[in-house]
Amino acid sequence: MNLEEFIRNVPGFPKPGIQFKDVTTLCKVHAPFKESCNRIIDYFKKKGITKVVAIEARGYVWGGVLAYQLGAGFVLMRKPGKLPAETLSETYELEYGTDTIEMHKDAIERGEKVLVFDDLLATGGTAKAACNLVEKAGGQVIGVAFVIELTGSLHGRDKLEGYDILSLIKIPVEE
Ligand code: AMP
Repeated sequence: MNLEEFIRNVPGFPKPGIQFKDVTTLCKVHAPFKESCNRIIDYFKKKGITKVVAIEARGYVWGGVLAYQLGAGFVLMRKPGKLPAETLSETYELEYGTDTIEMHKDAIERGEKVLVFDDLLATGGTAKAACNLVEKAGGQVIGVAFVIELTGSLHGRDKLEGYDILSLIKIPVEE
């Protein structure tokens, strides 16, 4: 199945110059949604994953399914101020300014084997921050998975050097 056919490109969203890759057109159809989940599950099923960490908000669409099928727990990474109990946080650089993500302090036990998931890899800043946060908590990042990887000038993969990266759809970006 060619999963890329189910991705909608939305030029100029949320601002001019961005080619937004819309995954809602993939997950709204059962067959490609199931196929995308299964490909990630097949890749990681023998790696002893005990926690799946997903990044707000589209990461959650796949994250819960992955955790359930891998026999792991599910952990939410969120934007600042959204989680109710004590958190760990990680701030990372954007093109203009910074962003922060948070995770509950007790979400991951020391030594746990963690799969980090987000819908899309662009510059890699978000996923790298998520990996740092997992490691701050004492977890071991076993892999990082995405539905889409934007390849070319963004070099997101370079930022995640040393991690086992799985991306289902590779889309080149021209800049
Ligand atoms: P980055 O930190 O640059 O790798 O950006 C990844 C995050 O931003 C992911 O959570 C994506 O959902 C979102 N994102 C970045 N660029 C795009 C894009 N062109 N289309 C859709 N989502 C994007």
